[in-house]
Amino acid sequence: MLRRTARMFATLVMIMAGAVAGVGATSGTAHADECYTWSRTLSQGSSGSDVTQLQIRVAGWVTSGERLSYDGQYGARTAAAVKKFQSAYGLAADGVAGPQTFSKIYALQDPDCTPVHFAYSELNHCNSDWSGGAVSAATAKANALKTMWKLEAMRHALGDVPITISSGFRSYACNSAAGGASTSRHLYGDAADLTGSPSFCTLAKEARSHGFSEILGPGYPDHNDHVHVALDPSPYWSAPNCGI
Ligand SMILES: [Zn+2]
Repeated sequence: MLRRTARMFATLVMIMAGAVAGVGATSGTAHADECYTWSRTLSQGSSGSDVTQLQIRVAGWVTSGERLSYDGQYGARTAAAVKKFQSAYGLAADGVAGPQTFSKIYALQDPDCTPVHFAYSELNHCNSDWSGGAVSAATAKANALKTMWKLEAMRHALGDVPITISSGFRSYACNSAAGGASTSRHLYGDAADLTGSPSFCTLAKEARSHGFSEILGPGYPDHNDHVHVALDPSPYWSAPNCGI
């Protein structure tokens, strides 16, 4: 609540500043977000870091087995993901990312760029600085952010059900203590072990359509009490008790 209030206040300040400068009050486009603000409409053919920022936020809106690239190139797959995002949130689904789409994203993100229903602290029960894993701390944290946006899409697709994360990033020390595999994606920051209100099979099945390439659930050894999702370069799904 405090964060939301702070964001609204910041937006108000920006609008007032715009009004003083003689713009904003009539342009109808004045909006600043504490995390990231897009300054142009994006569509197929666009490229740049603003496209990458968009891709991070819509990568959970893909078809089963699909993984969106974070390549900064707005191609057909990015347009399709934007369309699914728009449709899921009741916007006109044209595959073009303009003010309405960005407004929805602003409403969905916290000042630190995490989606509203997830936080960095939930993706790291191991340490405070994301160090000691298989990648740099910055990469591990960036990977966790991508995973959170996929989970935000997944929880919305499931009807806004709460999803709890019992384990996320792990340093080698934390991974050993948890009995994780030596090549675990938890060492990279992109893995999340899910619990929460939906059944494990519901979570495992739904994860297929939200950009996760590694899904382990009921029936897979040591995965009867959670569902593991990650972005593994070598895709692998196994939840035999769920028919996966
Ligand atoms: Zn796991």
